[in-house]
Amino acid sequence: MNSKYIFVTGGVVSSLGKGIIAASIGKLLLARGYKVTIQKFDPYINIDPGTLNPYEHGECYVTTDGMETDLDLGHYERFTDIQTTRNNSITTGRIYKTVIDRERRGDYLGKTIQVVPHITDEIKRRMLREGTDEDYDFVITEVGGTIGDIESAPFMEAIRQLRWQLGKDAVCVHLTYVPYLKAADELKTKPTQHSVKELQSMGIQPDILVLRTERHLDDALRMKVASFCNVDLECVVQSEDMPSIYEVPVSMQRQGLDAAIMRKIGIPVGETPAMRPWHDFLHLQQEANTEIHVGLVGKYDLQDAYKSIRESLLLAGIYNGVKAYIHFVNSENITPGNVEEQLQDLAGVIICPGFGQRGIEGKIAAIQHTRTQNIPTFGICLGMQMMVIEFARHVLGYTDANSTEMDANTTHPVIDLMEEQKSITGMGGTMRLGAYECQLQQGSKTRSIYGKSNIRERHRHRYEFNNHYLTEFETHGMHCVGANPAGKLIEVVELTDHPWFIGTQFHPEYTSTVLHPHPLFLDFMKELKKIVPSVVHTKAIKGGR
Ligand code: GLN
Repeated sequence: MNSKYIFVTGGVVSSLGKGIIAASIGKLLLARGYKVTIQKFDPYINIDPGTLNPYEHGECYVTTDGMETDLDLGHYERFTDIQTTRNNSITTGRIYKTVIDRERRGDYLGKTIQVVPHITDEIKRRMLREGTDEDYDFVITEVGGTIGDIESAPFMEAIRQLRWQLGKDAVCVHLTYVPYLKAADELKTKPTQHSVKELQSMGIQPDILVLRTERHLDDALRMKVASFCNVDLECVVQSEDMPSIYEVPVSMQRQGLDAAIMRKIGIPVGETPAMRPWHDFLHLQQEANTEIHVGLVGKYDLQDAYKSIRESLLLAGIYNGVKAYIHFVNSENITPGNVEEQLQDLAGVIICPGFGQRGIEGKIAAIQHTRTQNIPTFGICLGMQMMVIEFARHVLGYTDANSTEMDANTTHPVIDLMEEQKSITGMGGTMRLGAYECQLQQGSKTRSIYGKSNIRERHRHRYEFNNHYLTEFETHGMHCVGANPAGKLIEVVELTDHPWFIGTQFHPEYTSTVLHPHPLFLDFMKELKKIVPSVVHTKAIKGGR
C-alpha cells in the first residue's frame, strides 16, 4: 500500500492536547498492524527546542539519535513504543536553514527564493519524508500552534498542496475546543465553526473533527457541528476530559476515530483490535490507589518542565500498584536549616536535571539530608552530578568541591567539562546527545535492577564525573558502577549502605513507555512502596497530581 498521510492541526486555543490525539491515532493504527511514524512540525525559528528555557516550551525531549525535540515526541514514544529520530521533529528554523544553505551553495540557479514555493516545497519534502529510506503505511504529522497564527501559514499551505496532490491518501484531522458557559449553562460550538472556516479559507477542508470538551457532547450538538462544518457525523468525535491521558486512545477507538480515518482513505476497516496489553495497563491504573508521595527537587515550577520524569514515576507507580503523588519542591527554597521540613513526609525524592547555578545549593542540601537519613534518592543528570558534589564536600571533606559549570575556579572540580566539549563554543545541539553504551559492574545494585550488563541510554550534558577522583570516591563508598566503554565516562553512581541512592548521568525518563516502564523507575517506586506505611501524610498537598 502507498504511504498514507494524516495531518493533525489545532484551532481555537493552544494546549488542547494535539500531541495526545496524534499519539492516540498512532497507537490505534499500530494496533491494526500498520507501520506508523509520528512527526511534529513546530512553527518557531529556533533550529530545535534545545536552546529554549523550559518555561517557554516545557521539557526538551531527546531522541536516540541525539536530536533535542519538542516534548510531544515523548508522548509519541510513551504511547506507541516507536523510536523517533531527528526526522520526526522539524521547526521553521530548520526548514529555513536548509533552504538558505541551499541558496548559498547556488543550488537554485539564480531563482528568487520565496516562501511559496521554496519554503513550502521544503516543508512538503519533509512531511513526505523524502530522502529518508524509511517506508511507512501511515505518516502522522502534527503541526504545532493554532490555526490562524501567522507562523503556521506556510505549513497550512503545504498541507493544502499535499491534500490536492495525494487525494484520498491524505486526511486532515482538526482539533478544536467546545467551551461550556456556566452562566448560560450551554456548550458553545461557535469557536469550532470559526476555526473550521479559517481552515477552509486556507483551502483545507478538515475530514475529521475532534472536539475537546469538559462536558459530554450529545448527538444533536455533534450533528450541528457536522452540518456547519461540512463533515460527516461519524467524523465528529469528542475528547472529553479524562482522569488519565492514557484513556484517550481507548475513547478514540470507541468513537471510531481510526475507523473513520480508514474509511476516508478507502481501506477496509475490519475488526477492531482488542489492545489487550493497553487495557491491562488501564486496569492496573484504576486499581492503583494508594498514594505514595514523591518529591521532585528542581527549579522549574511547571508541570511540563519535567514531563518525562513525571510520567515515568506515574507509570512505575501503576506497575507497583500505587499512585505516585508528585510534589514539586523548589530547590531555590531549600537550605540546610529547612530541608527537613521541606522534604517532610516524602517517601523519596528525585533530584532533577538542569543547567546553571540557580537552585543547586538547595539540591545539595536536599541530598545531604536524604543520604544521611536513608531516604530513597534518584539523581538524574545534573541530579547525579550534585550527588557527587555533596559526597565530595561532606564525606571526602573537600568543602569547595563543585562542577566547573558552577564555579570555574573550584580547587576540587569533581564534575568537569568533557574533553570533547572544551573546544566547542556554540550552544545549540553541541552537548553529548543521544544514546550511548554503558557497561554496568557485576554485583552492583544498578546491574541487578537492569538484569543485564550492557545498556544504552540517552544523554544530554556537557559536564562529567572527573575520573581523577575515582579511587577516592570508591574507597569512601560512592561506587561508580556504570561507565561508557569507549570513553570511560562515568554514567552511574550508587551507595551500597543506603536503601536506594542511585545517580545516572543519562536520562532514563526518555525511554520509559506505557507498556515498557523503565527498570530504574520501577525499582525506585518499589522501594518507596516498601517504606510507605511509616510515612504519615500531614503535608499540605501542593503541586501534586
Ligand atoms: N548542566 C549539566 C551538564 O551540562 C547537566 C545537564 C542535565 O541535567 N541535562 O552536564
